Amino acid sequence: MTTYLITDAAPLGDGRADLLLADGVIAAMGADARRTAPEDAVTIDAAGLVLLPGLVDLHTHLREPGREDAETIASGTRAAAVGGFTSVHAMANTTPVQDTAGVVEQVWRLGREAGWVDVHPVGAVSVGLAGEQLAELGAMADSAATVRVFSDDGTCVHDPVLMRRALEYVKAFDGVVAQHAQEPRLTEGAQMHEGAVSAEIGLQGWPAVAEEAIIARDVLLAEHVGSRLHVCHLSTAGSVEIVRWAKSRGIDVTAEVTPHHLLLTDDLARGYDPVYKVNPPLRTQADVDAVRDGLADGTIDIVGTDHAPHTREDKDCEWAAAAFGMTGLETALSVVQLTMVDTGRLTWADVARVLSRTPARIGRVPDQGRPIAVGEPANLVLVDPAATRTVVPEQQATASTNSPMRGRELPGRVVATFLRGRATVLDGVPQDDPVAPRYAEGR
Ligand SMILES: [Zn+2]
Repeated sequence: MTTYLITDAAPLGDGRADLLLADGVIAAMGADARRTAPEDAVTIDAAGLVLLPGLVDLHTHLREPGREDAETIASGTRAAAVGGFTSVHAMANTTPVQDTAGVVEQVWRLGREAGWVDVHPVGAVSVGLAGEQLAELGAMADSAATVRVFSDDGTCVHDPVLMRRALEYVKAFDGVVAQHAQEPRLTEGAQMHEGAVSAEIGLQGWPAVAEEAIIARDVLLAEHVGSRLHVCHLSTAGSVEIVRWAKSRGIDVTAEVTPHHLLLTDDLARGYDPVYKVNPPLRTQADVDAVRDGLADGTIDIVGTDHAPHTREDKDCEWAAAAFGMTGLETALSVVQLTMVDTGRLTWADVARVLSRTPARIGRVPDQGRPIAVGEPANLVLVDPAATRTVVPEQQATASTNSPMRGRELPGRVVATFLRGRATVLDGVPQDDPVAPRYAEGR
């Protein structure tokens, strides 16, 4: 295994340090790193680069099994590595659904074979995501995949009795229920955010209250049964207020925002380009401002990509027929830099918290999101914050091209990603993959 000597990196954006990566761990730091580096160590000049713990995504759709035409575990996890991730949670809405020990073990095994990042399967809350009968949560928790996050994401656990039972059940193995908060009756036929733009362009609206009502109910349920709740992709100012209130009461709730909800608004629907169709929908500028405030003040705990690849057949059609969702693994860090770091709202140390340490804690992944210190597993990412690049979805590692960032110039570039000391990405290029496109532009 190659030994790497990283010189002059800025850990968490602060100061300068040398690091030696050997045998899967950070073997030495500072003067010791250069002194103890073996002769055959590969040196990476990291002057000007920020060193972060490998990113952890609590919300990725890898589409395998079932929709390998949109993404496979191999292509999706390669995209994750290119985006600076070392661990992803794979959502349960596959075909078949990840609602048994057998299916989650299959996803977990395929993730290991691909080797780009650690893959932690999310278990479905209900059998077949039907919202009627509790899935085999205990069997999935006890499986080789050691599932700790349970979600029907893509659909809401709307039955309060089922939600209560799930919250009670996961306590036995320190699990968490991650809710896609969407009141189904209030969002029947909904196509975009309900507001001035939807009224003007004549698309059926998805009102903010449909999200907020479920979050309010669920934090009260979590308090009532003394369990842990995670709110997926929170998108409205009202949702931020509810989570802020719940935390002030001591309720054990965590919340997530997506990169796209930090940047984009419902104004983009005016062109009827379905690349901007997503669930929950893009909201208003006031909502964007509120979720940025919430992430800055800690009300929102993490950024989760909700990477949702779709084929051209499912996405390049008229708005009403198009699938919900957009890709995000390869642009997430840049969007966080653009909206939160370059605006002075978060430091790089904060970025390490919201994109690595806290998602690892919520997902109960003990070997990720660790401090940058001697003896720790070498799950790391080197970022060039001064670089800029223009997003070309056809050049990305994901198998789908439904990126809402197409043509945008974004700041920052992932230079290298290390998974337990092995470089999965070097100079922006995924390793051990001769057919991969190059990502070296903009350096
Ligand atoms: Zn969702």
